[in-house]
Amino acid sequence: MMTDRLSRTGFLRMIAGAAAQIRQHHAWLSELDSVAGDGDHGTAMLRCVDNMGKAMASGPTNCFKTCFEQTGWAVLGADGGASSSLLGSFFLGMRDGLGENVASLDCQELSAAFEAGLKAIRKQTAAKIGEKTMMDALIPAVESFSAATLESKEIASGLERAASAAKAGAEATKNLTARHGRARLLGEKTRGHEDPGAASIALLFQGFHEGLQECKGEAGNA
Ligand code: ADP
Ligand code: MG
Repeated sequence: MMTDRLSRTGFLRMIAGAAAQIRQHHAWLSELDSVAGDGDHGTAMLRCVDNMGKAMASGPTNCFKTCFEQTGWAVLGADGGASSSLLGSFFLGMRDGLGENVASLDCQELSAAFEAGLKAIRKQTAAKIGEKTMMDALIPAVESFSAATLESKEIASGLERAASAAKAGAEATKNLTARHGRARLLGEKTRGHEDPGAASIALLFQGFHEGLQECKGEAGNA
């Protein structure tokens, strides 16, 4: 079976795909956040993806540890409240799953990076699945990616599975009551609406998948 590897170019495409998804849906994300919080989540996510894109464009390096570090700081620097500090910890934490000077990742290495990101975000929040936060989408996304990599060595198909697990997790938050963040104050009133942060995670993984899919066969996925 062919083992494909993710290069820096492939990672750039993943980020561009994620940014495209957020740009397309930011108004909806803010709408969800106006039910559950202060209505700024779409704007906060736009700043996050803009900063990620800029960091990757201005800091050319082939070392993935550095790429994840730059992306993480870019998101932390977006200053969008709870979501940017949590998401920033996730991307920054991804570097801990890798060795030094790794210029491309196979699916197992990417899975180790996602797992390390999850470990880092778990240090920032106690939120578990079922408590209506971004973790409801992120945990299944990372777990599905890891499970997929055990079966197939294909990064794009792993991301596709991660994206659909994230979407299912985000949709399931509709029927839950918020237990964390600003939304916790509204409790029962948040029932019936998807959690904005979970919706964002689903969009990010959908974008990762689409971005990488677009460059299949090109140098980015060599
Ligand atoms: P803020 O609440 O600071 O305005 P955002 O509106 O950008 O931040 O993001 C809100 C999202 O952040 C929520 O929908 C939820 O998914 C996530 N979130 C907030 N607090 C927590 C927390 N303690 N643990 C996990 N996720 C959280
Ligand atoms: Mg908000």
